[in-house]
Amino acid sequence: MMKKATAQLFKPDLARRQALFTSIVEASQYAIISKDLNGMITSWNQSAERILGYAESEVIGKHISLIIPTSNSGTEDAIISSILKGKKDSHFNTILKTKSGKEIDVSLAISPIYNSEKKIIGVSEILQDISDQVAMERKIMNTNRALQRSNIYKDELIGILAHELRTPLTSLKLSLELAIADTSGRDALLIKAKLHSDRLAQMLEELLDVAQLQAGRLEIHCKRVNVHEFVTNAIEAVQRTHPSHKIIYAAASPIWVEADALRMEQVVMNLLTNAIKYSPGKNEVVVEVDVAGKSVEIRVKDFGLGIPDMDQKKIWMRFYRVAAHKLCIKGLGVGLHLCRQLILAHKGSIWVESQEDKGSTFYVRLPCLK
Ligand code: ADP
Repeated sequence: MMKKATAQLFKPDLARRQALFTSIVEASQYAIISKDLNGMITSWNQSAERILGYAESEVIGKHISLIIPTSNSGTEDAIISSILKGKKDSHFNTILKTKSGKEIDVSLAISPIYNSEKKIIGVSEILQDISDQVAMERKIMNTNRALQRSNIYKDELIGILAHELRTPLTSLKLSLELAIADTSGRDALLIKAKLHSDRLAQMLEELLDVAQLQAGRLEIHCKRVNVHEFVTNAIEAVQRTHPSHKIIYAAASPIWVEADALRMEQVVMNLLTNAIKYSPGKNEVVVEVDVAGKSVEIRVKDFGLGIPDMDQKKIWMRFYRVAAHKLCIKGLGVGLHLCRQLILAHKGSIWVESQEDKGSTFYVRLPCLK
């Protein structure tokens, strides 16, 4: 019985063979499309309808560019010309556009269609939607990149800890050892030890902030605040510990913003300590606060070393330091990175104008409250 059915299946009956092929094509889970050498669609199976959204009646006789995104418009000519040059079949991944306009990733196999005289009369395309697979691959790639980035970050951090924290820690240890051994100069040594421990504490604070930023956990708590309040607090704190420079403050009447006062104080303190640190031999820095349109503008100006043009964009990057400054001035290279992230979190902007050996002005803008 079985043998008879199989024999019937292979009977050289054209109509029967055609019906068989049609049913295979229609039942296929792959989209199977054919087109003539002008790119006009000549057949379209059910999976093509499922994957690409168009019914057969909507596409027969239409140009294949219907499903090709404009960014890929060259592919059609390339396919036809490679088939005409005798390429038997090719297989590649590309992007197609569905009826709803969505772009999908597909794996595509292309072969020539011959007539009874063995002349090429068209092209068949068998395709499969691989969007989920491609999305998964992208996700894995992004995770790998994030892992690589966090490894680089970890290495940078270890480098910084080894170099920058070791120096004040060694000095602190030395001052304390000397103070224990030499009672006569103890007071001066303890004051020195206190300065080193302050520096260490400040570095640790900065590194903790950067770590929190990296983990997306740096929070700000905004409320209505007068700009003069946090600017004055910052100036007083920095002036106490940096008597080498006079901080000159010029301000307009009260200006209200929605901000995290402590974080803003941290930003101004950072800019001020930098202004003093990078202007050795000078004795003044200037802070100005003004209204600029719908924003408040805070300017911190020094007359020091300045920043070479090529470095002005890079100083906002984590751990970046101007090469010439590294040689003579200590720092972690994270302060400006933190300032920028904090200002962005306040929907503000921060930038610098600077000239080498003339000085720098750092600008901060925050949206004003009405
Ligand atoms: P740090 O001062 O700890 O190195 P920052 O992130 O605060 O780190 O600054 C990054 C770099 O930008 C500094 O190393 C320095 O080269 C440069 N810089 C910052 N402020 C100034 C300034 N006022 N004048 C000149 N250079 C500055």
